Amino acid sequence: MEKIKEKCSFCGRSKKETAILIAGLDAFICDMCVNQAHTIVSEELAERTGSTLKQEVNLLKPIEIKKHLDEYVIGQDDAKKVLSVAVYNHYKRLTQKNFKKDDDTEIEKSNIILIGETGTGKTLLARSISRILNVPFCIADATVLTEAGYVGEDVESILARLLQAADYNVDSAQRGIVFIDEVDKIARKSDNPSITRDVSGEGVQQGLLKLLEGAVVNVPPQGGRKHPEQKMVSIDTRNILFICGGAFDGIDKKIARRMQSQTIGYTSSKENEFIDKENLLRYVNSQDLKSFGLIPELIGRLPVVTHLDPLDSETLKQILTVPKNALVKQYMKLFAMDGVALQLGEGVLDFIVVKALEYKLGARGLRSIMEGILTDLMFELPSNEDLKSFVVTEEYAREKFDKLKLTHLKVA
Ligand code: ADP
Repeated sequence: MEKIKEKCSFCGRSKKETAILIAGLDAFICDMCVNQAHTIVSEELAERTGSTLKQEVNLLKPIEIKKHLDEYVIGQDDAKKVLSVAVYNHYKRLTQKNFKKDDDTEIEKSNIILIGETGTGKTLLARSISRILNVPFCIADATVLTEAGYVGEDVESILARLLQAADYNVDSAQRGIVFIDEVDKIARKSDNPSITRDVSGEGVQQGLLKLLEGAVVNVPPQGGRKHPEQKMVSIDTRNILFICGGAFDGIDKKIARRMQSQTIGYTSSKENEFIDKENLLRYVNSQDLKSFGLIPELIGRLPVVTHLDPLDSETLKQILTVPKNALVKQYMKLFAMDGVALQLGEGVLDFIVVKALEYKLGARGLRSIMEGILTDLMFELPSNEDLKSFVVTEEYAREKFDKLKLTHLKVA
């Protein structure tokens, strides 16, 4: 057999012209071609990872995201719209490395802050978004960070929880969503940074800042430090979306003061503008968050600010019946599983809503009230095989409700 000439089969360089010429079965490749091939392979793989990301993260358009949110969350249109856009941009940002490689415009992360009374749907919104996009999700409580004193440890524990939610898949965790509740509780007590350090608030805010900015944090995979021998996992928070929430009690006064001082001076154009005094939260902006006691660096890392509306009786009534997993639907299903058709008589829903408002329980109280009304029934029905349907009348509901120990209804 004729001997193959010793030259690179890709670029044709002879052995003399290369540093190394590697021989294959019936071909050769030189060091330069190996390097070039390596670059092509890396780029191609990066591109494919981008497209798998698109497949794994259910990247919908903002209008579609909002439509899905509507299935789970009643009202809160402003927040839904703002969230849909922010989340869409965030996940688009993750795929940007495949877009115009020589373009050095870097899209910054759009972490979000949701402001609204407790029980208005902040957690529900964040959770629903992660479900719609199919990304891991976890909830952390900012007040817990305060209690531990040393922030670093808790920051790790938040990420450990996210890692757990991602089934210990680091890549997946690194593009998850973290909801940090009660950020208002770590506000500085006064707007003026005082000489005596406000450990409870500002220190914790600094700790959060690190997380929000993007850092590589070593996380004990199973949480806690009980197993010192276990290997730490590095998690990069750069692409994790943080959604912060808080009630910010009293922020309406700060908003009112700012709006008042803004209108002085150029009253003529602003005079006729309608201001919704009942719901000043609609006008909340970063400046108000600063007056409330969040440090400017943290506010800077939470560029998307939006609000949730208080829930009125009509909205509460809808919450009972409309969402995909509405409470009424859930109880009907529970009863149906025992072969009983449950019906709520006229006025029952109104009665539940009135009580929720009367005891200031908000949406979260709806469940406790329904549970209280239906407990006796749920206790007896499974043993009563003759019963095929039951109508809860307003009278029945009232009787059961009056027997409840109201302390049980208090929401935390
Ligand atoms: P927040 O985080 O604002 O304190 P949550 O999101 O935890 O409130 O809401 C508590 C519960 O109340 C939710 O699990 C949900 O059942 C119900 N709820 C609150 N707001 C809404 C809403 N706008 N639409 C549907 N359900 C809601």
